Amino acid sequence: MRPDKIYYEPEVFNYALGKQLKEQFKDIRWNPIDNHNNIEELRKKENSEFANMKQLLIIGVRKTHKYQENHKVSDYLVPYTSSGCTAMCLYCYLVCNYNKCSYLRLFVNREQMLNRLIRTAGQSERDLTFEIGSNSDLVLENTITGNLPWTVENFLKSKKGKLTFPTKFSMVEPLLSLAHQGRVIFRMSVNPQYIISNAEAGTASLKHRLEAINKMAEAEYKTGIVIAPVIMIKDWKALYTELLDQLEDGLSRKMKKQMFIEIIFMTYSFIHRRINEEAFPGAIELYDAERMKGRGLGKYSYRPEIREEGEAWFRGEIERRFGKNKILYFS
Ligand code: SF4
Repeated sequence: MRPDKIYYEPEVFNYALGKQLKEQFKDIRWNPIDNHNNIEELRKKENSEFANMKQLLIIGVRKTHKYQENHKVSDYLVPYTSSGCTAMCLYCYLVCNYNKCSYLRLFVNREQMLNRLIRTAGQSERDLTFEIGSNSDLVLENTITGNLPWTVENFLKSKKGKLTFPTKFSMVEPLLSLAHQGRVIFRMSVNPQYIISNAEAGTASLKHRLEAINKMAEAEYKTGIVIAPVIMIKDWKALYTELLDQLEDGLSRKMKKQMFIEIIFMTYSFIHRRINEEAFPGAIELYDAERMKGRGLGKYSYRPEIREEGEAWFRGEIERRFGKNKILYFS
């Protein structure tokens, strides 16, 4: 990524990564800010300027380090070295207000965050797994910071704990040669190419994602598939049939043998609808009044009977292609 403009908190230069980024982007305009959480100039922008705002880079120091319990692949969701992303998925769960949270923010105090991870892992009686990619896409972030190899190498110097992160990007080369000790769980998010082309602008194609999955499995990473979010637009069964066929044909034997699958149905919101109307007029409509219902705070999810139909369909289709017990959970 070559950002159009950088906003930064002056204290970032107290950190090695801050200095590295200054050197890396020395020919780009740097604008000082007080707080990466509240950049007035950006807060006031119209939603229609969303795509331009995705070209900005915000660099700051992360102050919130609260772990959130999780009971899926990981034990804890951990705020880590970035938030937001340069891509423009129409349903992105990180969007609470495009003007505040959607652009890529990098946090340079990585030593502090990593030390806390190592300490928490070391103090636990059992082996904990930490989800470090729930606030951003670390494979994308890594192309700027190199934080993933740095994290894996330094975290694994301690004896306990595992790391996991999902991605919609395919730039996994820097990870392939790492001595990961089987303590890093890689998860690739997939969707039918039609959905990627129409609702996941700026992410990797399905073809590139499948190639990345096979490379990671070949490099002995525990590797999972996240079918997410499942979007039940018209013809969804045909689209997801094609996706499952492509997974069956395109995934290596090694990957299929060890893979697990997470399936997450889309939740959407009033805010997404408003913003997408203004930022992407003409984009496909993800809201479906017949199939979805409100569940408070302006959020919508698929009606229980629609979800049940979807779950039963995926169960049958996945079992037929990949065998029993491949699905870790539906959400
Ligand atoms: S790739 Fe992930 S973080 Fe980036 S816009 Fe899409 S859903 Fe959001």
